Amino acid sequence: MSQPRIPLAGVIGAPIAHSKSPRLHAHWLRKYGLAGHYIPMEVPADKLQEALRLLPDLGFVGVNVTIPYKEKVMEMADLVTDRATLIGAANTLIFRKDGKIHADNTDGYGFIENLRQGAPDWAPKTGPAVVLGAGGAARAIVASLLDVGVPEIRLTNRTRIRADKLREDFGHRITVVEWVQAGNVLDDAVTVVNTTSLGMVGKPEMRVPLDGLQPGTVVSDLVYTPLDTRFLTVAREQGCITVDGLGMLLHQGVPGFERWFGQRPEVDESLRAAVLR
Ligand code: NAP
Repeated sequence: MSQPRIPLAGVIGAPIAHSKSPRLHAHWLRKYGLAGHYIPMEVPADKLQEALRLLPDLGFVGVNVTIPYKEKVMEMADLVTDRATLIGAANTLIFRKDGKIHADNTDGYGFIENLRQGAPDWAPKTGPAVVLGAGGAARAIVASLLDVGVPEIRLTNRTRIRADKLREDFGHRITVVEWVQAGNVLDDAVTVVNTTSLGMVGKPEMRVPLDGLQPGTVVSDLVYTPLDTRFLTVAREQGCITVDGLGMLLHQGVPGFERWFGQRPEVDESLRAAVLR
């Protein structure tokens, strides 16, 4: 009699060595005593389609997708969730038993859950959000903030045209603010998010003046190397409630893990420690 197959999952991208996802999923597999493996896979661009069609036959139940394939896999999927379509990118694939590839985007979910966990009193509907940056990650953040009922998003980006495009795609609750004016629209914000790469190790510091931030504002940074960015430090000094970017990475892994391995995993301190080790 044949043995049941051990489910496999993983992350595909290029390069992939930097990914924290293998540690994240290995921790959960160990914690819940589940049979399974999670494998980082560097896939060349011209082999992406072939790899996606082959992986289910090898025992894979799904994969995460990272840079540079988050947009490309959308064309290769058979079913795409509404939120992935809206964002225009997928980070989680489920290989269904009927052979179909189901694509989802859990970045926005991870972002919102991270804020809910890190700032339990956060009330996003009660006032405007300011989003700094309009790159790939910003699309998921904007979509998820609108989804939880933020009344207005003030969106600002060094390259204005990218912010204008987001407004075009996401509609009238978005106001585009000139990058040089960003510091002037913070004072009545309930939520402020940095989605740029500024402040990340090896990148320039964020220079937006933050003295307009008010105590009690929930401030989050998507950058998590370093964990405590200057943006978050300054916000905390002004009495804001700060939430770092690592939690978003941890929470975005939850829906995929649950679908692949059948257990809804928890994001807690032991997970953070395992991923940071
Ligand atoms: P991206 O598509 O390359 O966008 C980069 C953004 O940063 C753009 O808005 C860009 O503005 C801005 N930027 C870069 N250099 C700048 C500068 N010198 N001055 C002003 N603005 C500058 O990258 P992404 O995929 O959106 O990722 C952005 C950051 O989020 C990265 O640090 C990434 O690691 C992080 N991230 C974290 C998570 C998480 O789970 N915590 C998830 C996704 C991403 P322009 O349009 O003007 O170039």
